[in-house]
Amino acid sequence: MRTSEAINIGSKILRNKNIVSHKIDAEIILSHILKTSREKLLINEQDISHTDLKRFKKIISRRLKKEPIAYILNKKEFRSKDFYVVKNSLIPRPETELLIDPIIKKFKEKRLYFLDVGTGTGCIMLSILNELNNSRGLGIDICNKAISVAKVNLKTMNLNRRASLKCRSIDTIYNKKFDLVVSNPPYVVKREINQLSEDIKKFEPQKALDGGHDGLDVIRKVIYKSKSILKLNGILALEIGSGQNNSVSTILRLNGFREIKKIKDYKDNVRCIFSTLI
Ligand code: GLN
Repeated sequence: MRTSEAINIGSKILRNKNIVSHKIDAEIILSHILKTSREKLLINEQDISHTDLKRFKKIISRRLKKEPIAYILNKKEFRSKDFYVVKNSLIPRPETELLIDPIIKKFKEKRLYFLDVGTGTGCIMLSILNELNNSRGLGIDICNKAISVAKVNLKTMNLNRRASLKCRSIDTIYNKKFDLVVSNPPYVVKREINQLSEDIKKFEPQKALDGGHDGLDVIRKVIYKSKSILKLNGILALEIGSGQNNSVSTILRLNGFREIKKIKDYKDNVRCIFSTLI
């Protein structure tokens, strides 16, 4: 069978299950099997061996059950770098990329020591370390398996000298002062997890999504704790859910933080808040 034919078949199977990204998914899956890029696959029509076709169909059937492409390929791109991902960690998302630019700008040429709370794959922490040579970071996560995944990424990116990763909660961080506390905490309202797409609710770790009854449990905790672990002019950078802007602003204010920057996503929702204690 020719590559274009296989893509059409795979795409049709996925489309019948209402998978919107059916075409691109089929292309990505086939390029993964043939170990080529999607661009090359689309230009160079070729024959597929029987074994590769079987493998293709097998992966298409995983996608049919709504397994995210990132878990199938075990990778996801974040700020132009591939991160290793397995189902124990949340898949890096484009809205989280919004957090990074202001941090890079603010701490360029400065020495930065930061804490990443709920590091997951390590995408936030490792992007900062990659782009700021004078930075050092501590990444924590309550999930041991997530920490193992982040350690793989840390090693691949060769950043071990400037970072450490620990399986622990923010409650256990004492006697340290950071220039920056950054976090993409779980912030989905517990009872709304059921309404998320199947890709997310069936496959992504609940612990990385569940923010308790109002979605703000962990955000509150990070804000409260940051008061004592940030340096005086330190910065707290938080990703929040759509619609949480006002509530998070109030929590920040009540804890003595002053907001210095808010970033909106392409749907015009505030998704990142930067604040400081002075
Ligand atoms: N952005 C994710 C989602 O809506 C949630 C991630 C999180 O809770 N930090 O699926």
